[in-house]
Amino acid sequence: MTPAPAPIPTPETREFWAGTAQRELRIQRCRTCERPYFHPRPFCPNPDCSSDDVEWFVTAGRANLVSYVINYRPLSVFDTNEPQIIAIVQLEEGPRMLTNILGVAPHPDQLPLGMKLKVDYVARGDQWLPVFRPLQQGVAQ
Ligand SMILES: [Zn+2]
Repeated sequence: MTPAPAPIPTPETREFWAGTAQRELRIQRCRTCERPYFHPRPFCPNPDCSSDDVEWFVTAGRANLVSYVINYRPLSVFDTNEPQIIAIVQLEEGPRMLTNILGVAPHPDQLPLGMKLKVDYVARGDQWLPVFRPLQQGVAQ
């Protein structure tokens, strides 16, 4: 199976990938309206604001499960043929993120909405992808 290609940082995402390489989940915040946001972009996404006075900061890496699908088609992303949990999580700081859930069986019984998650990082090529694991399952970090 061909490994999935590593993400290629762009000027907008370079700081994000520099963060994951140091096991930090960095997102941006508007200094004018003070809202955190994701995906990376050089201006505030709040249409009432649109300020370009924005900054990066390190999140706590904690999130809640908002939604998910279980993909039974083999993907090479994690070099496994096991079903994958593709999820939308909401960071403690507010923004939502599309990610994968690891460390839990890919079954709805194991995926209650609102479950607490903690970020972890998985190598892909020379980048580190943020993924999330259950916070309270004693999974090795
Ligand atoms: Zn703003």
